[in-house]
Amino acid sequence: MSFNISPIRVDGEGPLDANLVCIGEAPGVTEEKEGRPFVGESGNKLEAVLRRNGLERAEVRLENLSPYRPKGNRFELLLGTPELATSVQELYARLRSINPTVICTLGNWPTWFFTGKGKVQKKNKTVSGILNWRGSILRANVEGLDHIKVIPTIHPAAILRDPVLYPTFDQDIKRVKADLEFRELRLPERQFVIAPKGAELEQWTNTLLTATKLAVDIENVKDTSRLLCVGFAMSSQLGVCFEYDEHDPLLRDCLYRLLSSPIPKVFHFGTHDTEILRLNGYSVNNYAWDTLLSQHVMWPELPRSLAYLTSILTREPYYKDEVKEEDSDTKAWSAVWAAKRDKRQKLYSYNCKDTCCTYEISDIHEREIAEGPAAWKRFLEFEMSMLEPFHAIMQAGMLVDEIRMAEIRNAVEARLAEQQAALNTLLGVPEACAKRPCRCGKCINVNSPKQISAILYDALALPKRTKRGSDGESKVTTEEHALVSLIAVCKEKVDTLVRPQYIAEWKKKLLVVKLIILIRGGRKMKSSYLDIRISDDKRLRSRYKVGGTETGRSSAEKYVDNTGANGQTFPRGGVEVAT
Ligand code: URA
Repeated sequence: MSFNISPIRVDGEGPLDANLVCIGEAPGVTEEKEGRPFVGESGNKLEAVLRRNGLERAEVRLENLSPYRPKGNRFELLLGTPELATSVQELYARLRSINPTVICTLGNWPTWFFTGKGKVQKKNKTVSGILNWRGSILRANVEGLDHIKVIPTIHPAAILRDPVLYPTFDQDIKRVKADLEFRELRLPERQFVIAPKGAELEQWTNTLLTATKLAVDIENVKDTSRLLCVGFAMSSQLGVCFEYDEHDPLLRDCLYRLLSSPIPKVFHFGTHDTEILRLNGYSVNNYAWDTLLSQHVMWPELPRSLAYLTSILTREPYYKDEVKEEDSDTKAWSAVWAAKRDKRQKLYSYNCKDTCCTYEISDIHEREIAEGPAAWKRFLEFEMSMLEPFHAIMQAGMLVDEIRMAEIRNAVEARLAEQQAALNTLLGVPEACAKRPCRCGKCINVNSPKQISAILYDALALPKRTKRGSDGESKVTTEEHALVSLIAVCKEKVDTLVRPQYIAEWKKKLLVVKLIILIRGGRKMKSSYLDIRISDDKRLRSRYKVGGTETGRSSAEKYVDNTGANGQTFPRGGVEVAT
């Protein structure tokens, strides 16, 4: 056996005819000591949440992909080993015999081994797969198990590291419990009408005009106001997607009739959709509900994305990867990509799914708000009423004095060059260019964690600052909070040491850390507020998000066409401008 794998075997536990099997990665230290799976902190958390949802540990079969603990609990060390291959095959065989109703995979790797879902990148590293796929109702893609339901959720160890995930984990386990009652997937059945034209377009428009509520969603080309399609759902089962063509008068008329009709419209983050529609000449009448806002009003501390709400409130499996594009959550697609017809067809059905899910979610939210505390309704009315003023602010923008802006940019660049030169000199690279932007390759790159970590922790021997990575492992960090704490360390040394030679040494360290913070701040300010595109009418615009933060404050970002900046966070620090 490889030296990366412990020789101590910890087998699964629980009935061999269990209805539910939970599958983790591998035993930890406590499990190894006690010879039982899931008896450490993660196991306790799992057990508690199972019990909360009416499931006792004794009725659940608990398994791991590997019965052997990898060194440092790093599961990646097991990938590609014959030991893991054998234990996974043994596990598959055991599951064929147990034949449970539901397999609940805990975390990325168990989900990957049972469904093939979750993005696996080079070097066998998964990226955020589980947070997308969790809560989905899937079939196992393993021979002999493909009639069994798999419901992935987050690994309980992740809940311990990030308690914000707890309610989501709890909801997933609730779904697991409910799904033990039947073997079928019971996925939603939805009808999608894709890009109707001519008489069919007219017919579908008339049908949609009979709706009591319409969920609306648009797709546009990234960083532009170019519309690709507009989707409408008149129920959670029927979505119609209109392919956009500005030169088609019938289509324009149909869109106009639908959007200006008095039928209540539901959006998810409609600030984006309604603005793109406005830029294309359509105004939306009776924007009555926004599911992002209803989620914010009821559960401000929980995620608000459509993907998240879909996973919690509907049985639609995760679908945001169906149309492969890097930016699916901003609902924007690159022009090159959008030009390909086959891709566009997929986009249209994706758009229909978005509208149907938004419809379904809005039905549930409407009920929850009506049955919940009276303050929810009032707060939602208030947030909905804020959409219009924020829209007005977004449309007005701020007139920019471009000459003054160029002067400020020059001054910031000059200051950055001075600071960079000082840092280069202090660290022994005085021949570097210190220009901003720098292409010399010799300047110290304050934004390179590798370089800065080598300077701070190796060259200057400052005490290492660490933080836990998403895999639970401690890693050295050079983030701002780490640098601030190093400043405190340096200051204390400067104040308490006696020998001038040591004081000088620590003063130098202090200056290096301060310069790193200053240069990072200057670079951030330049890229976020000075090196930006301004709209053609010389106005800087932002896209505001009512309900954008947990505390109720709005948030802001660049405008829908990627011009402008976050208009709520302009830096206040002054800069000397030459006159
Ligand atoms: N984590 C796992 O994945 N399995 C265990 O048995 C314990 C912790």
